[in-house]
Amino acid sequence: MNNSELDRYYLGLALALAAEGQGKVFPNPMVGAVVVKDGSVVGRGFHRYDNIKHAEVLALEQAGNLAKGATVYVSLEPCCHRGGGKRNPPCINAIIAAQVERVVCCTADPNPRVDGGGIAALREAGITVSVGLLSEAARKLNEKYIKYITRPPVLNLTQIYPDPRSKDSFRTPHDRHR
Ligand SMILES: [Zn+2]
Repeated sequence: MNNSELDRYYLGLALALAAEGQGKVFPNPMVGAVVVKDGSVVGRGFHRYDNIKHAEVLALEQAGNLAKGATVYVSLEPCCHRGGGKRNPPCINAIIAAQVERVVCCTADPNPRVDGGGIAALREAGITVSVGLLSEAARKLNEKYIKYITRPPVLNLTQIYPDPRSKDSFRTPHDRHR
């Protein structure tokens, strides 16, 4: 296998791992990760609801010291945000701390709070990032998540009526005659 065939192969493994979270992780995305060092898999993980650690972190923990100089294959862009009900530190921190050499992911995370930010931060830290292989399969796997995370924002009543008096303008003609 040449390099891009190898990338495709390991990303396929990551996608298969991701699918193990099927039906358990929504509204989070299904994510699988594989750590490869010198041609062998030294760590694997997937996002599961009952274990709130993300796939990348689980795979890196399994790899231990072998993660140094390794390649991380992950089905979705590693996250770079915290807060908003999120319980974990961002995965990019763990990847950078492990001194991984290269990250290969299928697609960017369409979550507006990530959306390329994870990839950019990894590159800034000197890690080689390749993105785009098997992206169609990865997007199809997380179709429901993508729909959910990119839905238009819902207006609440305080946005519709910033001032209670402005309700007056919504009076019906009948109201005006009273
Ligand atoms: Zn993450």
